[in-house]
Amino acid sequence: MPSPITPFEFRGYFFHIKRDDLLRPFEGNKARKFYYFLKNDFPYIKKLVSFGSNQSNAMYAMSELCKIKGWEFIYYTHHIPSFLKQNPHGNYLRALQNGAKIIEIGLRGDELREFVFRLKSKETLVIEEGGRVRESEEGIKILADEINEYCIKNNLRVFLPSGTGTTAYFLAKHLDVEVITTPCVGDREYLKKQFELLGGGKIPTIISPKRKYHFGKLYKHLYLLWQELKKAGVEFDLLYDPIGWEVVLENGLFDVLYIHQGGLYGNESMLRRYKKSV
Ligand SMILES: *Cc1c(COP(=O)(O)O)cnc(C)c1O
Repeated sequence: MPSPITPFEFRGYFFHIKRDDLLRPFEGNKARKFYYFLKNDFPYIKKLVSFGSNQSNAMYAMSELCKIKGWEFIYYTHHIPSFLKQNPHGNYLRALQNGAKIIEIGLRGDELREFVFRLKSKETLVIEEGGRVRESEEGIKILADEINEYCIKNNLRVFLPSGTGTTAYFLAKHLDVEVITTPCVGDREYLKKQFELLGGGKIPTIISPKRKYHFGKLYKHLYLLWQELKKAGVEFDLLYDPIGWEVVLENGLFDVLYIHQGGLYGNESMLRRYKKSV
């Protein structure tokens, strides 16, 4: 079932929101990214192994995937703070509830990646951090098919904030309208490089935020913007969307379909951090 497109009025402007946060059995752009693995049969696979941060949206989505598939799920992370171990919450808690084995390994970056990829075997599927995989094209193409005509009919461009840029890249590849994105994890150069690695060609328009942000850091004005959006009727994620909306507003992008990419379980941990800091 396609996710709905709903109207959203904010600061006197009218927006269209593609509600991928309402997708089930799992939500957001990770549902699109892992659709290929959900839909296809992998007769030899018994186990999925991945890696990344201890509150990653992708980790939670993969735990849902493994529950449905009956696969064991092993997830390696650099470390788990004792506070989180004692008070599990957010994506960490949901993944544990789905039976994930989350293992601290003390490795980061390429060292962690290489360690995990060495575990690949006939029975063990390994998925790149954040679901940055070619297989994600299949599910993201379905998203493109769900919105293409709507955008053309209503004269809309598409906007979404990026992490790895995988979602924006494959949307741009399969849509007939312009896709605009903003980097939330690295800078413009990082994002351009990701687009090249994914295959280049027709790539999204990149608009950087006017201020410089560090991913996952707390910014009071972004929290206030998030609150204002929530009061206007839609809860967005706290990592990417406040930056996304700031770029929309700063640049007067009032003719966009905004893709809500989910991630609301991740808000539990961000909200805790914001409440402690203010
Ligand atoms: C993963 C994620 C993103 C980033 O997606 P990319 O394809 O890596 O750019 C954005 N928003 C939310 C809520 C996410 O979970």
